[in-house]
Amino acid sequence: MNFITRFAPSPTGPLHLGHAFSAMLAHDAAVAADGTFHLRIDDLDKSRCRPEWETQIEDDLSWLGLDWPRPVMRQSDRLPRYRAALEGLWARGLLYPCGCSRADIRAAASAPQEGVLPHGPDGVIYPGTCRPATAPRGPMAEGAVLRLDMARALATLDSPPGFSETGAGPAGETGRITATRLHETAGDVVLARRGLGASYHLAVVLDDADQGITHVIRGQDLFEATQIHVLLQRLLGLPTPVYRHHRLIRDDAGRRLAKRDDARAIATYRAEGLRPADLRAMVGL
Ligand code: GLU
Repeated sequence: MNFITRFAPSPTGPLHLGHAFSAMLAHDAAVAADGTFHLRIDDLDKSRCRPEWETQIEDDLSWLGLDWPRPVMRQSDRLPRYRAALEGLWARGLLYPCGCSRADIRAAASAPQEGVLPHGPDGVIYPGTCRPATAPRGPMAEGAVLRLDMARALATLDSPPGFSETGAGPAGETGRITATRLHETAGDVVLARRGLGASYHLAVVLDDADQGITHVIRGQDLFEATQIHVLLQRLLGLPTPVYRHHRLIRDDAGRRLAKRDDARAIATYRAEGLRPADLRAMVGL
């Protein structure tokens, strides 16, 4: 079977041990299956991405012994593709413009309830303030935040979307999703971000499809986001890859590593004289 996978970092900081684990898992799987491993650059948010981080990423991954076809796919080159997909969803009445700030969303979401607000992969679940009663008509709103009308989108499907998972999700979930669950766990997700043209969810789905990705290997922290991606694949008529959500690499206090964890940056270990085999051993590979 054809096996094509990828590692898709954002060049907003140094890669750390968690990234190394994810990239090596995907690369090892591609080598074992005689398949292809792609590096892809998630650089939609130009204000946070830097060319020097991109160079460092390529350098670190090469040092780890990874190889990939060039040129690499870069999200900033693909805005027309994202826009065309948005136009299609807009024409089907599945998107609406949203003018809410984060503070507006928190305030509206906390109004009917006390205590902890329901969170999805993108933060507090949108309470629907800007959702129109009927689908907006006319040309797509320019430069606006566009949200997916989740209820309307799910209603267009003849069966619930699902995916196969080669491992289990963080709580042992299998790769099945239901309309009800997506409603509760994601809500009306943002598909176009102001000034960026697309959101991560839309871009990643189109990138995976256009690269012919058959297997997505990524952290358990993205398990909930995968549900959104599988729904988007169904809405856009794209194939759904096989997913594997791997365990997360944590620090000594049990916290997930973040970009700011420079102490665990691959570059720091390199500078300290460690070898790629030492990093493999540290993450249990
Ligand atoms: N740029 C995303 C990240 O680093 C990619 C995640 C993915 O889709 O695998 O979290």
